[in-house]
Amino acid sequence: MTVTRLLIIGPPGAGKGTQASKIAEAYGVPAISTGDIFRANIKGGTELGQRVQAIIEAGELVPDTLTNEIVQDRLQQEDAAGGFLLDGYPRNVEQVHALDGMIEGDALDAVVLLEADTDEVVARLLKRAEIEGRADDTEEVIRHRQDVYAEQTAPLIELFTERGILVSVDGLGGIDEVAERIAVALSAKLGR
Ligand code: AMP
Repeated sequence: MTVTRLLIIGPPGAGKGTQASKIAEAYGVPAISTGDIFRANIKGGTELGQRVQAIIEAGELVPDTLTNEIVQDRLQQEDAAGGFLLDGYPRNVEQVHALDGMIEGDALDAVVLLEADTDEVVARLLKRAEIEGRADDTEEVIRHRQDVYAEQTAPLIELFTERGILVSVDGLGGIDEVAERIAVALSAKLGR
């Protein structure tokens, strides 16, 4: 069985979630979003949801130990045996090391970097906040999340480049246009 382990990374609002589903479908792996897991728990009023709600609403990162535990559990589920597409995790160097420790051999086969301009994504997020009424999407929080990305997550780009697994794709454009770019770049990288 070919195991395909992927990550999509990029600034909040670059359209990762939408593209994640498409990539996951193409490679027959589950899309695993830590943000979605947290939001579902907040919505369901679980103990986890109660623990993370204020942190997420402030645009901060949930503590690594808690996040790592959740991902470790999720990756042990049967549907992830053939691989996975991670969206929103790992988000800092600590989490990269934690993921490395969860998996035998190479933790990731490829990392798709969805490149997007900060002003562009802030505008996109404000529009989405208006439509969906997301609690974490006030302008101040949106900007803070961009800063957190720049400080904690963006440095991972260099790390994945050094590992030779980074695939950069221009995230500007229509959904299908960007999806096609990703499909071409990713299959070139993976050879499948
Ligand atoms: P996202 O939908 O990926 O933008 O995630 C929404 C929020 O969930 C983030 O702003 C964080 O507060 C939290 N979150 C999601 N993934 C992680 C992670 N890997 N580590 C810490 N916090 C996370």
